[in-house]
Amino acid sequence: MAHLGTLPPALGFLAAAHAGGGRAPEGPVATRALRAEIGEALSVQAFSATVLHGPGADPGRAWTRAGDTVVVVAGEFYNQDELRSVLPDGDAHDGDAGLLAALFDRYDLHAFRLVNGRFAAVVASGARLCAATDHAGSVPLYLRPAPGDIHIATEAKALATQAMPKGPSLPGTRRVPGLPGVHQVPAGTVLELAVDSAGGTLHRTWQPPSARRILHEDEARRAVRSALELAVGRRLAAGVKPLAVLSGGIDSSAVAALAAARGPIDSLSMGTDLSDEFPHAQVVAKHLATDHSELVIPMDELLRQLPYTVWAAETLDADIIEYLLPLVSLYRRLPDTPRRILTGYGADIPLAGMHREDRLPQLDSAVAHDMATFDGLNEMSPVLAAVHGHWTSHPYWDRDVLDLLVGLEAGLKRRYGRDKWVLRSAMTDLLPEETVARPKLGVHEGSGVSVAFTRLLSDNGVPDRDIATAKALVVRELFDRTVVDGGHPDHVSTEGAIRTALHRLRQGAA
Ligand code: ATP
Ligand code: MG
Repeated sequence: MAHLGTLPPALGFLAAAHAGGGRAPEGPVATRALRAEIGEALSVQAFSATVLHGPGADPGRAWTRAGDTVVVVAGEFYNQDELRSVLPDGDAHDGDAGLLAALFDRYDLHAFRLVNGRFAAVVASGARLCAATDHAGSVPLYLRPAPGDIHIATEAKALATQAMPKGPSLPGTRRVPGLPGVHQVPAGTVLELAVDSAGGTLHRTWQPPSARRILHEDEARRAVRSALELAVGRRLAAGVKPLAVLSGGIDSSAVAALAAARGPIDSLSMGTDLSDEFPHAQVVAKHLATDHSELVIPMDELLRQLPYTVWAAETLDADIIEYLLPLVSLYRRLPDTPRRILTGYGADIPLAGMHREDRLPQLDSAVAHDMATFDGLNEMSPVLAAVHGHWTSHPYWDRDVLDLLVGLEAGLKRRYGRDKWVLRSAMTDLLPEETVARPKLGVHEGSGVSVAFTRLLSDNGVPDRDIATAKALVVRELFDRTVVDGGHPDHVSTEGAIRTALHRLRQGAA
């Protein structure tokens, strides 16, 4: 764990590769960070970048030049020791960027198949530019290609203001609505581009397993426990007290328990004036002897954070925005000092925790569907916390944990009438029985956000049958204002977005 700091060396970057001269994109970003500039002349391309970094982080560790190659990494790697072990001079590389440059030299773009991390990276090498995401695409990455002029950034809005030609199509990438010419690099891929033509090839570096493993109960329980233990441990930084965002549900309680087993932790629960999960979180905090606190955010104020949430997440999915709104609001209320935050986010996807019935075919269909559709939702984007200078990580979406959980046969996920059985039973010795047995409650339910957002729309005259459409229209409007137009969320209001959504709804009905 020694190589990690409170924050990784870079929270994000803006970069450009040019056949001639040029500059990195300068557009707005939601990430609150200092900026460090890089400019390197390679044999046949000029590469420039702005590294977004927090106070106390060393942006010099986020990039490196080796011969005719420049590497920039935002985020961090979690299997550094394994990666070093395949290099003859592995110990010479302690930073992720240096390590990646050495791996790239040895494996070329197949290097990305080796990394278990939470990162986005760009490698400029010879006449090529490679843009890579981690297996989960957990650090979103966008690019705007034009022949001889390729722009890349970890936030789409940074590419919105550039007056550039539309550029070629890039098979396999997703276009960003409202931003012509801007593409999102898919999860678990590396996009290899020729700088002069901007033509590209997409290479897949990870895929969710489609096969299912049959394990004995004890074996499954032990495998989940040790994979999760390792994933939590790899996300802790030596000498840095982590903050666990804790609901008292099994997912976050398990992460908090495994972190607390390694040293003191802080825990924090949020609630609103309408609803909270405080008593459940208190039981866990007491059991683990964490330094626990509670944060109450009035619902009116929470709903006013919608523009911030869309600005940070850059997603058009209204359900995802409801999940993320309480978390973004919580991160924005933390003190300014940067924190390393652990969440229990994402466990329900590989374990089908949202699936509230007993039949296994439906459960496995839900897992397959969610694993096929998570990409591009940006629900684990680091920007959600980086809007206030913090860094999050999500142990359930560690590459090894995810591979294991997705690949377990459905009867281990739902067993003895319990959802997420294998996780619950892996944690029985570290958590109170009532926590292990506690039914799932989504973050949007526990905080009352979904109900309150619905009520706000009803109060504005939206009929019940149009609520889902109206929510989508509100999110779309906020996306257009904060991502496409690059407006600051302080100048974009939830009320204004609702008025526009109502107008569109009535136009649609007429
Ligand atoms: P379960 O899925 O069984 O309810 P959970 O509450 O830990 O477990 P989610 O409901 O999926 O998981 O919530 C996602 C994550 O968001 C949590 O693991 C936790 O890290 C964070 N979170 C959710 N609700 C709160 C809350 N009220 N306060 C602080 N963090 C929360
Ligand atoms: Mg919950």
